[in-house]
Amino acid sequence: MTVAEKSARKFAKETPLGRTRRARKIHRILAEVYPNAKCELDFETPFQLLIATVLSAQTTDIRVNAVTPGLFAAFPDAHSLAVANLIEVEELIRSTGFYRAKARNIVKLANELVDEYDGVVPNRLDKLVKLAGVGRKTANVVLGNAFDTPGLTVDTHMGRLARRFGWTEETDPVKAEHEIAALFPKRDLTLLSHRVIFHGRRICHSRRPACGACPLAALCPSFGIGELDPDKARSMLRFEMAPEATVADAAAPESSNAATSDASELDASESDAVENDR
Ligand code: SF4
Repeated sequence: MTVAEKSARKFAKETPLGRTRRARKIHRILAEVYPNAKCELDFETPFQLLIATVLSAQTTDIRVNAVTPGLFAAFPDAHSLAVANLIEVEELIRSTGFYRAKARNIVKLANELVDEYDGVVPNRLDKLVKLAGVGRKTANVVLGNAFDTPGLTVDTHMGRLARRFGWTEETDPVKAEHEIAALFPKRDLTLLSHRVIFHGRRICHSRRPACGACPLAALCPSFGIGELDPDKARSMLRFEMAPEATVADAAAPESSNAATSDASELDASESDAVENDR
């Protein structure tokens, strides 16, 4: 029997209560391992976070953070973006990819905000998801980080890790969101999202997780699906945990998202298409 099979068998008869307890233990460990986990998009207002999150589809947060200062200097609010020249917006956001669709979406979104909410971003999920280019994932990011309304972000990392943890078997993001959220107090959902996403970016990689260097090994039914050799596994860690990381990386891990963040992991099956985020 392989290590992965033994790990799966260890949790095969787990009760729902046992699963909830184990999920919360995993969250406590993640909180210790990633004390700086937070939203990696730069923003000052709900409007800025909403636009930045729409722009973050299929690109890295760092690329978005590189264009948003210029974008928000030219168009600081929904009223100014609503009447923006589309070509000018496209040029400002070009490096984020899919810039034509994204420019169309954010200008349309700004018009909807002006027409329906006098330019103010609504703080309700049902209203946010009706805006152009805004899906549940984007809406939960905005609610959790700009309005302090706890929400679970089911992106590619959360979906993958939640299935590896045995928190859900669902591949449908909305169904997965409900199953995962049921395991935790509502107030924990925003930080839980950041911590799981941090773990996915640093240790539990999509193609080859670094199981041999994972602090969740004893609690994970998927332990053994990735690299088990401790030295090899450590060499696979990324950002501030990478063997070559500097003291500055450890002090400001969010900035280290720059060079190698999600871009290297994006593929057609795992990334949300811009138009699909509805
Ligand atoms: S790295 Fe391995 S042990 Fe750690 S959470 Fe991912 S699958 Fe589980």
